[in-house]
Amino acid sequence: MAQHAKGMSLTTKVLLGMLLGIIVGLAINLSGLNVKGSWMNFYVVDGLFKIVGAMFVTALKMLVVPLVFFSLVSGVIGIGDIRELGKVGAKSFVLYLLTTALAIAVGLSIAASFGIGEGVHMSTDAVFTAKEAPPLSKVLIDIIPGNVVNAFASGKMLQVIFFSIMVGISILMVGKKARPIVELIEISNEIMMKMVNIIMAVAPYAVFALLGRAIANLGLGLLADLAGYVTVLIGVLLLHLFVTLMIILKLFSGKSPGIFLQKMKEVQVFAFSTSSSNATIPVTLRVVTDRLGVHNSISSFTIPFGATINMDGTAIMQGVATVFIANAYGVHLGMSGYLTVILMSVLASIGTAGVPGVGLIMLSMVFTQVGLPIEGIGLILGVDRLLDMIRTAVNVTGDATVSVIVAKSEKKLDEKVYDDPEAGIIEEEDLEIDPQAEKELAEVVEEIHEEIVEETEQKHQGQ
Ligand code: ASP
Repeated sequence: MAQHAKGMSLTTKVLLGMLLGIIVGLAINLSGLNVKGSWMNFYVVDGLFKIVGAMFVTALKMLVVPLVFFSLVSGVIGIGDIRELGKVGAKSFVLYLLTTALAIAVGLSIAASFGIGEGVHMSTDAVFTAKEAPPLSKVLIDIIPGNVVNAFASGKMLQVIFFSIMVGISILMVGKKARPIVELIEISNEIMMKMVNIIMAVAPYAVFALLGRAIANLGLGLLADLAGYVTVLIGVLLLHLFVTLMIILKLFSGKSPGIFLQKMKEVQVFAFSTSSSNATIPVTLRVVTDRLGVHNSISSFTIPFGATINMDGTAIMQGVATVFIANAYGVHLGMSGYLTVILMSVLASIGTAGVPGVGLIMLSMVFTQVGLPIEGIGLILGVDRLLDMIRTAVNVTGDATVSVIVAKSEKKLDEKVYDDPEAGIIEEEDLEIDPQAEKELAEVVEEIHEEIVEETEQKHQGQ
């Protein structure tokens, strides 16, 4: 059992960073000091805050591809029975689609029952250019990377997942001979997880900077302009997070929602401050595996897969926004219109990655399909940056919920770890380099080096 962390735990520090970031950001915004060209803007908001925040998000992104690759290959070779893989894939796919569809249906119906958007005058200067939804055939073909280097370089998640699974399966087919490569992959996976810990250590400061900047620039005042839309949307998002998903969790896995939410706080804060399910993958993967006890063979697949195709929060936004804009423009959608919206949103979520602001692009795909005016998106553009933060937190919670359910049904959930409130907490020792181990490793390097030199010399003498 892990020892109690000395002093404040990392999660508490991250939460504190978030709270302080919001307070400081708000203070800067309200004081009016943050005008372009002012010292506050130049040195603090667009200086220090921007640099610290962006360096952190970039560091997280740096981890995503190698982490997903090593952990997924290790997951596939560690699954024990390769037929399981298909089952895990099918179960998580169905659950992801179902939760997304449920989310948007709830969003649509609650928004419709409140009649939001009625009586809103639709003048807006903000312009939004529509994007057409890629056809399903393209989405399917694009799962296979024509060029692996390109897939890795541009972080195309579904392609990286596909290739990693293929590598894992091929290693299994090679069998015992592949032992060295299995060792290499296992150790590489461990190394990448260590790197996650290192980056997490600076998270409290980074979260502070990210939120300080976002709130200083945006303020919260704009939320009031669209109070109806914002309140209903946040209400449905919270309902989904705390009620719907938790009922699904309890119903399908029997596990405690209280413990789940307690442990997920950290992940939610990351998603909230980065607005990106993709950049949050390293943190989600760590928490779901080490803290919630989901076996790596499940989480290494369900988390990156979910970050790409499962977006409950985004789906809710699409439902609420559709009703809001339809009402604002006096368009009557009707039942078939609503069903098209549900179907389109679910499809759009498969082909788009979890990055900031992508929800609006998906919304424009839906609008072109149901014939709603794209300009309407301009109405909600201003508040979207802030709402993106909340819905991303809901998105990652959905990914983790499904992971726990799938793991439980596959008997790959370590319930002792799940139930232990202290499990997987990052301790200070985790970030220390053991001097003894350091020395030993240096000796190993020295030995290898000497062996190589000796071999080369022998070769030369032989010639
Ligand atoms: N930012 C969201 C995510 O990464 C997607 C969106 O709703 O824009 O999950």
